[in-house]
Amino acid sequence: MIYDVQNETMPRDELEQLQLKRLQYLVEKVYYNVPFYRQKFSESGIKPEHIKTLDDVKYLPFTEKQDLRNNYPFGLFAVPKENVVRVHASSGTTGKATVVGYTQRDVNNWAKLMARSFVAAGVTRSDIIHNAYGYGLFTGGLGAHYGAEILGATIVPISGGGTKRQVMLMRDFGPTVLCCTPSYSLYLYETAIASGIDVRDLKLKIGIFGAEPWTDEMRNEIQNKLNLRALNIYGLSEIMGPGVAMECITAQEDMHIWEDHFLVEIIDPATGENLPLGEVGELVITTLTKEAQPLIRYRTRDITRINPIPCKCGRTHYRIERIKGRSDDMLIIRGVNVFPSQIESILLETEGLAPHYQLIVDREGAMDTLEVQVEVDEKLFSDEIKHLQRLEKKIQANIKEFLGVTVKISLVEPRTIERTAGKAKRVIDRRPK
Ligand code: ADP
Ligand code: ZN
Repeated sequence: MIYDVQNETMPRDELEQLQLKRLQYLVEKVYYNVPFYRQKFSESGIKPEHIKTLDDVKYLPFTEKQDLRNNYPFGLFAVPKENVVRVHASSGTTGKATVVGYTQRDVNNWAKLMARSFVAAGVTRSDIIHNAYGYGLFTGGLGAHYGAEILGATIVPISGGGTKRQVMLMRDFGPTVLCCTPSYSLYLYETAIASGIDVRDLKLKIGIFGAEPWTDEMRNEIQNKLNLRALNIYGLSEIMGPGVAMECITAQEDMHIWEDHFLVEIIDPATGENLPLGEVGELVITTLTKEAQPLIRYRTRDITRINPIPCKCGRTHYRIERIKGRSDDMLIIRGVNVFPSQIESILLETEGLAPHYQLIVDREGAMDTLEVQVEVDEKLFSDEIKHLQRLEKKIQANIKEFLGVTVKISLVEPRTIERTAGKAKRVIDRRPK
């Protein structure tokens, strides 16, 4: 099923024409309405009339998270304040929160894109959605909420936390769809088991998981434990919130990015140069329809690639690959670049481990060091010490072989790594500042 057939299956040449028209309109609008952009454009010698093709977007200056912080809170609004009906803020994972504003039309577009995303995941009006994304300044909860309502599904606005109660309500209400972070879905699973509920008796069919990086191996783990199809959703508050890109249930691989609303580029994060289609780099997004706070060439810091291969679901919008991580999450251990998600893949392929881990980065002399703390599963925990030591050696050897770095492995007791209702904290940085 497709929610908005006309826009989601538009032939690519038509889609690109629409993008160009919207880009030209946007550039003119911000040039005349947002002093920040006018100044930035002038510094690079750019006038709105210079944008003649979609490719010309590369002449526009980037917008960075720091620009949002410098203009905190409302300095990037492109409409009079009375037209702004809502504000959200990013969860501030990497520093001071950044603020976003929405007009009524922005809120409506967001709801429609979320509805599109739900339908791409196989959700219909007859589904009951247990929405455990946090409600509040964080965009996850309300974003999914409005999308579900205009789709006509039933939404349970449970928000994050109170995990025991969540499990009880899931048993009583029989939701067919679960929305939360991938890590929280496993916490719900554990809590259900501890409360004597077999999740296989619940009616869950579809999980819509995002807001943090996760791997294919984590997907397998979650699908097996929760007995549902786990789909990946991507978004960020600066651009809109959840529903910027969504995996379709037909392919269940890579996420359609809604190109009639977002223009995407992939750049080399070190040089800022555009990379050829299909290469891995930093995702840059220009919002094509946002009114209150449009962003030009926003550097998301998220690392991915564009998959231009037509999807068997019939949608013509390109897909982005599962996010590897943020460029600022990349660890450099003895000169080798490592993403936490690469470690996750190796851990989850190792028998005897539970899918809960944390990476501790520290410094010894001039060298950064990495310790991987990972929980062992219940069965293994009662095993002999020498078995555990053998397992540590094995993981260490695998990480050395696949990633080329030597790390310390510490197996820890079941349920000792902190659980959260939102984004899991995977990296603890103990390096002296
Ligand atoms: P914050 O930057 O404070 O975490 P947001 O709550 O807006 O703010 O989170 C957006 C970020 O979350 C994205 O830029 C990305 O790094 C991460 N993210 C969102 N969805 C996914 C996903 N499906 N896979 C990996 N990372 C994701
Ligand atoms: Zn598809």
